[in-house]
Amino acid sequence: MRSDKRIKAVLFDFDDTLITWEHAEYSWIEYNRPRWATIHDFFTADGHTLPNKDDFAHTIQLCMRRQWEEALPVWGSASFIDGLVEALAEMGVGRDLYDLDHLLELYNWQPVPGVKPFDDTHAVLTELKARGYQIGLITNAFQPMWMRDIELNAFDLMKYIDARITSGDTRFMKPHPAIYWRMLGLLNLMPQDAVFVGDRPDQDILGAHNVDMTSVLIEPPHLNRDRQGIEATFTIKTLTELLPILDRLEDA
Ligand SMILES: [Mg+2]
Repeated sequence: MRSDKRIKAVLFDFDDTLITWEHAEYSWIEYNRPRWATIHDFFTADGHTLPNKDDFAHTIQLCMRRQWEEALPVWGSASFIDGLVEALAEMGVGRDLYDLDHLLELYNWQPVPGVKPFDDTHAVLTELKARGYQIGLITNAFQPMWMRDIELNAFDLMKYIDARITSGDTRFMKPHPAIYWRMLGLLNLMPQDAVFVGDRPDQDILGAHNVDMTSVLIEPPHLNRDRQGIEATFTIKTLTELLPILDRLEDA
């Protein structure tokens, strides 16, 4: 392993970058329907009067969507937990009436069936670690990191990751520079020390450019994203293609 590496870390987006949603078996609403029903049952058994299950789920969905609508224009961050707490308050269940941790246990976030790492994710991350790179993860997920950790563990990806943050925790979303600087701070690096790999030009790639970081756009065959005039430093179809790019950057 070279100790004089120019690039010290490879930073990744999560969804459709390290794991593929191509074969997800449920939409967000379908995935959540039984989960909201479980929470509805919990409150009803506890003596609360709530709207019927469909309206209960609908109100939560609306509050979650409002979180995103308010966050996106300023690249602040939506928060799953704030959305849930707001929805319950709107339905007369104040924050003092439940234990949030217990509620989230009942919610039981798990990998969405059909979602899995890309075929080469483990091999590429293994190679990056062997080459001595630090690995970071920055996801525009509105869940706290501990919820997405459930997926990292289920997919056996946690062992590669040196630092990981969600926008939900950070309160800023890619492409806001603050979330990149947060990651760089965790790894004690400057932008020129890192490469960012992600699938969304307007978030992952623009954000990397906002802090003068080398960017790699991954365009898996199942996605057809509009590049919106944003040109990444490099473009790849599979993670494996990242390895020769890093060779080139080291030799530059
Ligand atoms: Mg993504």
